[in-house]
Amino acid sequence: MAILGEGNVSSRIEGGFLIKASGRSLGTLAPEGVVACRAEGLLSLMEREEEPDDRIEAALFESRMSEAEPKPSVEAIFHAYLLSLPGIEWVGHVHPIGVNRILCSGRGEEFARGRMFPDEVVCCGEESVFVPYTDPGLRLAGAIRRGTRAFIEKHAGSPRVILLGNHGVITLGGTANAVLGAMLMVEKAAEIWQGAAVLGGPAYLAEADVRRIAGRSDEHYRQRALNL
Ligand SMILES: [Zn+2]
Repeated sequence: MAILGEGNVSSRIEGGFLIKASGRSLGTLAPEGVVACRAEGLLSLMEREEEPDDRIEAALFESRMSEAEPKPSVEAIFHAYLLSLPGIEWVGHVHPIGVNRILCSGRGEEFARGRMFPDEVVCCGEESVFVPYTDPGLRLAGAIRRGTRAFIEKHAGSPRVILLGNHGVITLGGTANAVLGAMLMVEKAAEIWQGAAVLGGPAYLAEADVRRIAGRSDEHYRQRALNL
C-alpha cells in the first residue's frame, strides 16, 4: 500500500502525538523513524490556509518535543487535526493501488458515497469523506478539515475513511486495529468496485440498509466534535 517514503502513521500520546519522520519508509519503520510532536503549533498554523513554505517548515521543526529528533512528515499537519477529534487515537495514510485506480479515474466521489456490502459499512462507515486533489501540506490539511467537519455535521461521528483525489487514503479510529481494518476493507472494496464497474456498474446498498448496519448516530458526539 506504500512504497519508498509514501504514507505515514500517527498516534496520540500524552501532550501530543507520534508520527513517522519525513522520508522514512513505512515498510521498515523502526522507533528511530518516529518523532514525538506537539499539536498546538501545527493547529494554529491551520488558522490560515496560506503560509510561506519556510514558515510551514519552521512550524514542523518547532513541533518536535525534542530537538534531537528528525523532522516530521509535512502531512503531520492533517494528522494533528484528525488526532484532535474525540475518540481518534490513531491515523493511517497510504497510497494503495486499488483505491488509487478509482481516485485517479474521476469517479472517486462516487466510490466515497456508495456502500456495496455490510462489512464495508462496519469497517469504513456509512460513507467516506472525499477531498478533491489539493496540494499536500497546509492546504490539504485545510481541505481535509472542511470535508471532515461537513461529515461530522451530517453523521454525528468521525469519518473512518477519507479519500484524497489523485493522492491516496486516510483511515482513522480509536485503535490501531480499527485503522488497519478500515484500510484493508477500503482497498478490498476498491477491488470489488472495479469488478462491478466492468459488469455494468456497482449496485449500491439502499441508504436505509446502510444506516441500520451503521447503527444509531449520537448527537452528543457531533456537539463535542464541533466544539459546540
Ligand atoms: Zn500521501
